[in-house]
Amino acid sequence: MNFQSVPLRVFNTLTGKLETFVSLEEGGKPKAIRLYVCGPTVYDKAHLGHARCYITWDTLYRVLQFLEYPVIYVRNITDVDDKILAKARALQQSPKQLAAENHAFFTQDMVALNILPPHHEPCATAHIDDMITSIETLIEKGFAYVTQDGSVYFDVRQKKDYGKLKFSTNDPQKLASHLEDLQSGARVAVDEEKHSPLDFALWKAIPTEDPDGWVSPWPSATDGNTNKKNGWGRPGWHMECSAMNHAFFGEQIDIHAGGADLVFPHHENEIAQSECLTGVQPFARYWMHNGFVNVSGEKMSKSLGNFSTVRDVLARYDVNTIRYFLLTHHYRMPVDFTDEALTGAQNRIEKLSARLQEAVVCCNLDLNTLDNWLVTTLTGFKALQDKIKNRSIATSKGCEALASFETMLTAMASDDLNTAKALAELSTLLRLLKGTTDSEEMQDTLRLLLSLLNLSGFNLLLLLTPKACLLDEHAIYQLYQTLFKNQEPPEREAKAVLRILLTERQQAKQAKNWERADAIRKALVDLNFQLLDSKEGTTQLAQNGIEVVGVC
Ligand SMILES: [Zn+2]
Repeated sequence: MNFQSVPLRVFNTLTGKLETFVSLEEGGKPKAIRLYVCGPTVYDKAHLGHARCYITWDTLYRVLQFLEYPVIYVRNITDVDDKILAKARALQQSPKQLAAENHAFFTQDMVALNILPPHHEPCATAHIDDMITSIETLIEKGFAYVTQDGSVYFDVRQKKDYGKLKFSTNDPQKLASHLEDLQSGARVAVDEEKHSPLDFALWKAIPTEDPDGWVSPWPSATDGNTNKKNGWGRPGWHMECSAMNHAFFGEQIDIHAGGADLVFPHHENEIAQSECLTGVQPFARYWMHNGFVNVSGEKMSKSLGNFSTVRDVLARYDVNTIRYFLLTHHYRMPVDFTDEALTGAQNRIEKLSARLQEAVVCCNLDLNTLDNWLVTTLTGFKALQDKIKNRSIATSKGCEALASFETMLTAMASDDLNTAKALAELSTLLRLLKGTTDSEEMQDTLRLLLSLLNLSGFNLLLLLTPKACLLDEHAIYQLYQTLFKNQEPPEREAKAVLRILLTERQQAKQAKNWERADAIRKALVDLNFQLLDSKEGTTQLAQNGIEVVGVC
């Protein structure tokens, strides 16, 4: 097995086909793979739909890394949007502050879901100048027009293959007929000055008294002051992603991914803007989209009352249960979150965890060296493969374990990120692990098993640590927020947060603020911590007799 023997094959929404991945080249050499994923609009906390979307693309990113592709991963943050403004106004908060708070929550949720950070996480508001420059070019090239109020629209009629992503075709006749249907279905609002119902805003003019805007080169001709040189407005959402793509990657990218709800109009419009701006086609070679999340058979929505945030779900199920549940479904299919399904996944994870912990004890494996021990690249797998095959008494079980890992890898890489098929190999590897008494063989099988879980983004530390030794991070953060009036802890690690709480208690005691010192003590005891105060005034924190935080 080598690099060529594991081709990457993905379903491309642009062509409607499963395609073998070929990276963009520069001077005959493949460039680093440019992966762009549409990030969240930070007006609220992340929900289950976000969990599915970013777990899916995290898995793709891990597979690309395993196959040893150099990757640059960009996932943006939409921090200017009507939803952010509406919510901030309702809360009498500044939109900037609301977006920053929800961005911070999002980052914490991604960490909690064991999602690897992208290389760049640009905020739309940091690229307003890029957007204005791009819009000016589109106007100059005749692809966009300015309206009386100082808004700018993209002229869809100028983009001859508009609709190619939505309808997965480049056939001009088919596209023309599809677009006619779309157009007759769309209506132009009375107050808009669009030339065609499908035209979309690149820039929306707003009244000058609205504080949440930016200066634009397109003054309003309707406010009576014709001498004005500048306008005032906000960017259109689609323009944000095009501008950030160009800022980080230039004219073309390899893979553009996001939720299926973004295919039309968001991604279609991104293609139209970007290709007209640069004249280079295709803007993105592969478009990948993940399916919807339903809750108990219904579309998840706030109005239906079945809207679950990532935090709500993480309070009930751990990250491995959530990952297992999601990844045992193909990413393009819809998934239905039900408590029965999640409980089933939880039982599976608990059994898996118990079996792995037994094997780790049997193999005398030191958890601290786990990272170096896992197989995380094809080269690493090749080396292990050679080692197993060359062993003097090459066993059939060792070879069976290798074959199982190859099946898993082929499913992930060459069968459109088929994590469901890949995770089915867990049963085979667990059976082989149970059936061996040879310590070297057991180690190799365990290594392959843990590598599969690692490639799928499971939190191995959580799987391999007995429950009694685990800190309830969620409860610790909640405690911090209660004591510090809803502030987010400055540290991610639960132990660091506990240390801050102990220091705070120490300071309260020194200030003779006994009420606060006792409140902190009581809250920690309620969480099953033991506080061991010394005569010198220092404190040690333990749980179930195990020291958690040393002397503070
Ligand atoms: Zn986007």
